[in-house]
Amino acid sequence: VQEFDVIKKYLTFKSYDKNIILNTGDDAAVLTIPAKTQLVTSSDTFLENTHFLQGTPPADIAYKSFMVNLSDMAAMGAVPQWTMLNLTLPAKDDKWLCEFSNQLKEILTNYKISLIGGDTTQGPLSITITIYGFIKDNQFLTRAGAKTDDSIYISNSTGEAALGLLMLQDKYPKNDYFVQKLQRPQAQNKLGLLLKDYANSCIDISDGLICDLNHILLSSNKGAELNLKNLITTSSLNDYCSEDQTKNLILYGGDDYELLWTLSKEKEKKFLKKIKETTVSVQKIGIITDNIGIKENNKKIKIKGWSHF
Ligand code: ADP
Ligand code: MG
Repeated sequence: VQEFDVIKKYLTFKSYDKNIILNTGDDAAVLTIPAKTQLVTSSDTFLENTHFLQGTPPADIAYKSFMVNLSDMAAMGAVPQWTMLNLTLPAKDDKWLCEFSNQLKEILTNYKISLIGGDTTQGPLSITITIYGFIKDNQFLTRAGAKTDDSIYISNSTGEAALGLLMLQDKYPKNDYFVQKLQRPQAQNKLGLLLKDYANSCIDISDGLICDLNHILLSSNKGAELNLKNLITTSSLNDYCSEDQTKNLILYGGDDYELLWTLSKEKEKKFLKKIKETTVSVQKIGIITDNIGIKENNKKIKIKGWSHF
């Protein structure tokens, strides 16, 4: 019965969408998919001690668990629309719930996403978010479309969130900029929508630059030749880390939630012109090749990344 109080008090928000015929409060939600529209959906689970350290502020947990899902929508070129929240809590902690709820409200309001249901249970802290987005006319991005000689781009840079984690683990002196990169990543939804008209393939970088690039290469049956000089020399990590450590974090550090995509030579020029009209910073990191594997200066780059198993 307490569960209903929690849902009513902390997990009921405004609906933004006329496609919701039946919202939370019944046994299931009922939704209309508009004509010529496809539903894109994805789900991610957040566990204490696995995805976030014990004692992480509830607002940070709410923020990041949503951003990770929004990042998946960005990578597909989808517009996020609805969400479901499966919440397992050790106890009914009003302070925790209030902070979690306030942050949730802010994100749902900013993105105009409607919470259409979920489940609330008692147990070790766990948050599962399922997100639902729309695309039009089957115009979605995938990992599988990379072509030989495509240019490979990323948004911003990588490795900063991974350094933030090392700082939280007291392996480096703390600096708020990097901790914020870890706890408050910014999903690239506007970029994802723009990329739909240009990119041959796209992925969001969650498990590390090399690991996620490799997902594109495996899905597209291609290889890559990288030029990482600019990415490494301009990295903010250089102020804190040795050259080797910087490169290691850039290549293998996780939790960036930037996008990585490939562009044909023909689309590349048009894309670069278009991106100049925005505030998004992008960099070219290499090209797609027929030869399988990832190389830099003719040397093989080791493929590894974050893995749960
Ligand atoms: P049932 O027993 O039929 O599954 P619940 O008690 O689990 O019903 O949920 C009641 C209503 O509240 C449902 O509409 C469900 O989607 C919604 N709900 C439950 N937990 C959450 C949550 N964490 N976030 C959003 N909605 C929730
Ligand atoms: Mg239920």
